[in-house]
Amino acid sequence: MPELPEVQSVLDGVLPILQTKRVLGLKSYYPGTLILDPHLAEDIFPLSLKKAWRRGKYMIFDFNEGYSSIVHLRMTGKLVYEPQPEDIHKHERARFELEDGEAIRFIDPRTFGKIWLFKSENLDNYLPKLGVEPLEEELNSKYLTQVLKGRKAPIKNLLLDQRLIAGLGNIYVCELLYRSGVRPDRSGGKVNLSEIKRIVKDTKEVLEEAIVAGGTSISDYRNVDDKSGKFQRFLRVYQKKECPRGHDIENIRLAGRSSFFCPKCQK
Ligand SMILES: [Zn+2]
Repeated sequence: MPELPEVQSVLDGVLPILQTKRVLGLKSYYPGTLILDPHLAEDIFPLSLKKAWRRGKYMIFDFNEGYSSIVHLRMTGKLVYEPQPEDIHKHERARFELEDGEAIRFIDPRTFGKIWLFKSENLDNYLPKLGVEPLEEELNSKYLTQVLKGRKAPIKNLLLDQRLIAGLGNIYVCELLYRSGVRPDRSGGKVNLSEIKRIVKDTKEVLEEAIVAGGTSISDYRNVDDKSGKFQRFLRVYQKKECPRGHDIENIRLAGRSSFFCPKCQK
């Protein structure tokens, strides 16, 4: 499932393409994938990119013509650049048609991904309320102390809550908690200040390292050139049998997700 580093890698890949090619159309090949604002004019194309940015796991494309598009990859979505697109791919749910016959395909086997297109002024109606951006200064030990205070829920579930911190998913939360030495099932309110400081530092580090590596290719994540990310080589506990120090990894279910941790390294 794409998390912040994967979404950032896709966005970084799409950006230079959309900076040089206008969008001539947005085609939908699966009901429910493409959601058009009901008040959009008949023909809004072509669209030229003003700005592309990320918020949590959402990509936002603002166009000079006053329209915006949000892309959410969800479970299995990916954007794939095709200089010479052929027939519709088996799992292609939508397509950004570009100048010179080029395209960016939205491939999504599980069909949970979404693309919204709307007037930019209505962004707040489409982008959900999200917590702080983990790579920004707004994620700091003061903020994390505040949101964890008195919480009985496991620290892992709280870190996954997009309303508290936007962009973290299962893989990176397993990894950062291992680095911080904190068990994923500890109550959020019981995590002490020095652990909180480590969690903040390790969150930023693990995300930055993963962005440099182009994301993690577990299951079928690919970047925009349909290549794999490389961060899976650096995973220490996620889907591992042993931690780097040779201890057996345990796997428990938290919030319905596999939670990998080392019972010796994590307290
Ligand atoms: Zn260990």
